[in-house]
Amino acid sequence: MVSREVQAHNSVVRIGNVPVGGDKFAVIAGPCSVESEQQLMSVADVVKGHGAVALRGGAYKPRTSPYDFQGMGVEGLKLLKQASEATGMPTVSEVMEVGQVDSLCEYIDCLQIGARNMQNYGLLKAVGETGKPILLKRGLSATIEELLLAAEYIYDAGNPNIILCERGIRTFETATRNTLDLNAVAYIKQRSHLPVVVDPSHGTGVRELVIPLSRAAAAVGADGIIVESHLNPAEALSDGHQALTGEMFAQLMQELKPFVEAA
Ligand code: PEP
Ligand code: MN
Repeated sequence: MVSREVQAHNSVVRIGNVPVGGDKFAVIAGPCSVESEQQLMSVADVVKGHGAVALRGGAYKPRTSPYDFQGMGVEGLKLLKQASEATGMPTVSEVMEVGQVDSLCEYIDCLQIGARNMQNYGLLKAVGETGKPILLKRGLSATIEELLLAAEYIYDAGNPNIILCERGIRTFETATRNTLDLNAVAYIKQRSHLPVVVDPSHGTGVRELVIPLSRAAAAVGADGIIVESHLNPAEALSDGHQALTGEMFAQLMQELKPFVEAA
């Protein structure tokens, strides 16, 4: 069970050799989509150089329009593995269907369940059977209770290695892509022993808001962030408007220093 009533101490989930949920604030960074070897390797080097502990990148992309870039598929997973071996950073990537689980497990260290699949119970059971670390994102219109029960599906299938992710929810507000619900972070930390990370990229949809909301996430007690970065956002094949440039990523890490370095 994911409730604090059955386990009082915080769970620490390891992505490769990187603990999430311990004393250090974990910064997971990388592009929205893996686009090419050059794109991935260059951004991986930059985020690693500034202190990211894990690399994110989507190879299977849940796009609103079927005419938009859908991801590189297995070729993207192989590039993530290559980038991981080159930088030493473990990887996080989204699995969209049960049929993709085996290849994700072969190439990737932590499987992301995207917001659109938070209540895909067949997929939750399938990733629950892998034993791999799972980053479970809150659904676009899911309550906190529904998120915790989705996590329970993974846990009940035999996998306690779950990281919860607040990535913004749909509200009446349209100035930003989503409304980042930082209440959820503080609330879940009370209710559950699982680590919680924040995604300020999808939470805001606006590059300029990512650094302030990352600071807010650290201040409210999140265990880390998962953030999108691209060295040439204007050319990005997805979510370029919310990607941090290399310079902005450096600035982010500078501002998070007290949290990242906490003993
Ligand atoms: C992503 O991480 O690129 C993504 C699609 O996230 P979400 O499922 O939160 O929209
Ligand atoms: Mn994205």
